[in-house]
Amino acid sequence: MQVFEKLAEYRYEQLVFCHDKATGLRAIVAIHDTTLGPALGGCRMYPYATEEDAVVDVLRLARGMTYKAAASGLNLGGGKSVIIGDPYTDKSETLFRSFGRYIETLGGRYIVAEDVGTSTEDANFIRVETSYVVGVDVTRGGSGDPSPFTALGVVQGMRACVEEIFSTTSLEGRTVAVQGLGHVGGNLCRLLAEEGARLIVTDVDSRSVERVVGEFGAKVVEPGEILTIPCDILAPCALGAVINDDTVPNLRCRIVAGSANNVLAESRHGAALAERGILYAPDYVINAGGLINVADELEGYNERRATKRVMRIEGRIRRILAISRRDGVPTNVAADTLALERIAAIGSMERLHTGHPYGQLSRRRETI
Ligand code: NAD
Repeated sequence: MQVFEKLAEYRYEQLVFCHDKATGLRAIVAIHDTTLGPALGGCRMYPYATEEDAVVDVLRLARGMTYKAAASGLNLGGGKSVIIGDPYTDKSETLFRSFGRYIETLGGRYIVAEDVGTSTEDANFIRVETSYVVGVDVTRGGSGDPSPFTALGVVQGMRACVEEIFSTTSLEGRTVAVQGLGHVGGNLCRLLAEEGARLIVTDVDSRSVERVVGEFGAKVVEPGEILTIPCDILAPCALGAVINDDTVPNLRCRIVAGSANNVLAESRHGAALAERGILYAPDYVINAGGLINVADELEGYNERRATKRVMRIEGRIRRILAISRRDGVPTNVAADTLALERIAAIGSMERLHTGHPYGQLSRRRETI
């Protein structure tokens, strides 16, 4: 693999390999862009088959975080890290403390959080060695479970979409089909029920289905039926790539708006939805509530402030819809435009004031 070629392709700033023989640590930190502030992103622990797989994954994920933070109005850049290992068998206090020491050496250019394969307990070990970590235990100033905030952001995003299609922000009486009733999907159903929406739900786990039906009186369908059920809003809250060549022609919804990451199998499926007259709320914008909430820890966690910021997702989706109309592009492309325009605007502002594109970062280093 030609690493520098790979970095140049999407203008990555830094790729850091961390190795500690004593603890068995093999980790990689990717910092994509710090124009808006320090790079924040989770640490994924996964038994990657090859080192190249790990590099490709961490680079892809780090770039995604740049767009997500920028489009969410956060003063943060994009970064991510991976630990090569099995989260079920390879975890230890020393491994995460060793990783924490590496994070500390980056001086705040990268702030680590949880991701697939890592937990609050792991973040607590990292915290022993560095303050550049969020998602720690609530007793240590952490922000707790992000899922209710992600669900709240999804509801806010749905309001903007519903307004576009039905000329009202009310979700009362709207039929919402929810795929996946886990941490986010369960909270989403609660919020939608409070709004008076009609719920159609599915999950491969029957206990989750029973809970939601018992609490909110939702109608249940088989997992294979949810994508073709007639509804106002389809909310994918389980898997990625549910919008693909096979599913687009058979959708019977007006809006796709859920928490799942990478909802579109490929970027071109955003255009395919638009062609069918289906409004798509870009995944990384509508599902940013958890990120916005955890990022609040950097200012000393305040739930009310975090909630207010998550509520702004409604306005963000509205702006994306406006860009989509302005540029005549699908909403997923408009979301990228929103992110890039903000980075360009702030980047040029920094150069004006400090003569250095990363002036803001050097200022922040003192305050974090
Ligand atoms: P979760 O694991 O708690 O819930 C996922 C649910 O989907 C589970 O109940 C599972 O049984 C169900 N499921 C799996 N396959 C299914 C299928 N084929 N059909 C129907 N149901 C199926 O995960 P979560 O934390 O609720 O996250 C849901 C999605 O939202 C994921 O894609 C995640 O990456 C994304 N997301 C979550 C957060 C967050 O704050 N938790 C933030 C941003 C994005």
